[in-house]
Amino acid sequence: MKATVRHKRGAKAWLLLLVVLILNAGCGGKSTEEYSEESVNGNGRGKLCVYLYGDFSESKAKMICKELKNYFPEVELMEGRLALPEEGYVPNRNRYRGTALLNDLKKYRNGNVVLGLTDKVICTSNEISSTFGIMGVSYLNSGLCVSSSIIPKSGKKQTDENFIKLTLHELGHAYGLPHCPDQKCYMVDAEHRMKFPHTTGFCEKCSAYLKSAGVTPD
Ligand SMILES: [Zn+2]
Ligand SMILES: [Zn+2]
Repeated sequence: MKATVRHKRGAKAWLLLLVVLILNAGCGGKSTEEYSEESVNGNGRGKLCVYLYGDFSESKAKMICKELKNYFPEVELMEGRLALPEEGYVPNRNRYRGTALLNDLKKYRNGNVVLGLTDKVICTSNEISSTFGIMGVSYLNSGLCVSSSIIPKSGKKQTDENFIKLTLHELGHAYGLPHCPDQKCYMVDAEHRMKFPHTTGFCEKCSAYLKSAGVTPD
């Protein structure tokens, strides 16, 4: 399912979007939900604004931003920190609903693309569990995404390299890229497995999309 973009100035684009989720050991679960928001393919793409939740490490965030600048020309690490949305907290699992963070980030969109970084476990509801641990979440083509540095199963931090790949994957979704069949592409659907260590970059097709959409420079 692909989002159809009907963006008009002054009017909201109403889109049915695929919610794309990185699952426990990668990306695999999908669910659909109504989502209405200004699409990134409209007028409002702007810059890439990076927000930190809670006490996410600033030095790590700076390292991530530096890497993101290889793909997205205008990256800004935003001042201050965001509080994790209380309404998304699941106390008996000590984790946060990914969609609650995405909905929270909508407030900061303002025509830009928004990435939230957290070191809390995030989760989604799927056929396996109502609080299934995931590492990243985005609404396709929404300009909104979240990535978590924590592997839900072990509670341990991902390697920096995998965290960067995960973040690029989520940003790909946020800018409109669906999953890609190329197993070496950052946009691979990990299908409950950890595939990021084997990915090497955005494949030719995904790179071409990002260029043609005006996201990455030629
Ligand atoms: Zn994905
Ligand atoms: Zn690809």
